[in-house]
Amino acid sequence: MFEKILIANRGEIALRILRAAKELGIATVAVHSTADADAMHVRLADESVCIGPPSARDSYLNIPSIIAACEITGADAVHPGYGFLSENARFAEVLAHHGIGFIGPKAEHIRIMGDKIEAKRTAKRLGIPCVPGSEGGITDTDEAKRVAAEIGYPVLVKAASGGGGRGMKVAQSEAELEEALNLARTEAKAAFGDDAVYLEKYLTTPRHIEVQVLGDGQGNAVHLAERDCSLQRRHQKVWEEGGSPVIDAGVREEIGGICARAMQELRYLGAGTVEFLYEDGRFYFIEMNTRIQVEHPVTEMITGIDLVNEQIRVAAGLPLSVTQDDISVSGHAIECRINAEHPATFRPSPGLITYFHPPGGLGVRVDSAVFQGYRIPPHYDSLIGKLIVHGRTRNECLMRLRRALDEFVVDGVDTTLPLFRTLVRNAEVQAGAYDIHWLERFLEEGGLDAQTAG
Ligand code: ADP
Repeated sequence: MFEKILIANRGEIALRILRAAKELGIATVAVHSTADADAMHVRLADESVCIGPPSARDSYLNIPSIIAACEITGADAVHPGYGFLSENARFAEVLAHHGIGFIGPKAEHIRIMGDKIEAKRTAKRLGIPCVPGSEGGITDTDEAKRVAAEIGYPVLVKAASGGGGRGMKVAQSEAELEEALNLARTEAKAAFGDDAVYLEKYLTTPRHIEVQVLGDGQGNAVHLAERDCSLQRRHQKVWEEGGSPVIDAGVREEIGGICARAMQELRYLGAGTVEFLYEDGRFYFIEMNTRIQVEHPVTEMITGIDLVNEQIRVAAGLPLSVTQDDISVSGHAIECRINAEHPATFRPSPGLITYFHPPGGLGVRVDSAVFQGYRIPPHYDSLIGKLIVHGRTRNECLMRLRRALDEFVVDGVDTTLPLFRTLVRNAEVQAGAYDIHWLERFLEEGGLDAQTAG
């Protein structure tokens, strides 16, 4: 087992990793930018190293500084969390070159799944159902027209290196295709330095359902059921729940089994998420994330399995602590991503938190790294905490979530708490009757009245 883990991240996920390491009796090293010198992950770690100025490019993304921090502190492994360097295959290779463990998948798998065209090709080969679309990248308009005519409009142009919902454009008809191609290419080039795009059938009323997997890198792999992340804004998840309100145990076993077998064949190492769109009872693979995800606590709450603990175990060469037969789903969990943003305009609201009172009680978990007197820096994402609630049934979970949201107080900055207080009281959300476009429509139609948003 590792003796000392360096956490190459910040915020709530740095704290989450620190907790898993402490429970395993492993020493921890926090790294931080000058803007994060007072952060909770720095205070709670056994050691800390400042790795640069506020800009992420010069600190949390600075590979030489992080390697130096490992050498100075004698850390024998790095956990990258999510975002930053978590899906950077070269980072994993550089660490290996220095004899430092990477708590994440093999570099080759990060690379394959980081290229969405290659990822789809691999998924198809492994027997995972995919969204109909182009076989590979699309380079010219005529080819795009041919493929689009074959799969039928509307179609979606997507960036091969895409992420965070960027570089995606819908074409409703052939007349819109050329412009969609050009826009997606330009956006992809600007965001990812790669203008490769591909074509997919645009599904009009799907849900986003994803399967959590874990592998030991030796050919043993399991699935840990699904999460439904259909409530999205700008292709970004806002509310996640597990299990999906529309999946029964039989369907869960079927799609979970397909994913687990695929990971066995790949000899996948660590935690991963196989993401699907789900429409008319069918699953369509869209991508795989080769890291721990923001919404992983949903799975932890319904299975009781500590995913970060498993990540650390398998990265150290130990077997998974569970087999498929040991894993069962108990009750229901919902996660709300609480951002420091205006609840109606979503404008980021960095600044001083003057009062902070998180909710508690049975089945309530708050993963957050903020505290009263903490100043949210303007340099990073606006996630300030995740409220995760568990109940024996979805209904109990919703009642508990409503209570927990009403108890939550964050003063000094705007937060998205009022949005969730509205959502949890909405009849369609309560019925689980929503697809990936529901929330955008709800917001456009003024579902969040001015008073609630106040
Ligand atoms: P990213 O890596 O940028 O997050 P994804 O491929 O994971 O991109 O897609 C993000 C979101 O975009 C999905 O959750 C879904 O809401 C929407 N989306 C992606 N592909 C399609 C599709 N073929 N049809 C309809 N919506 C899609």
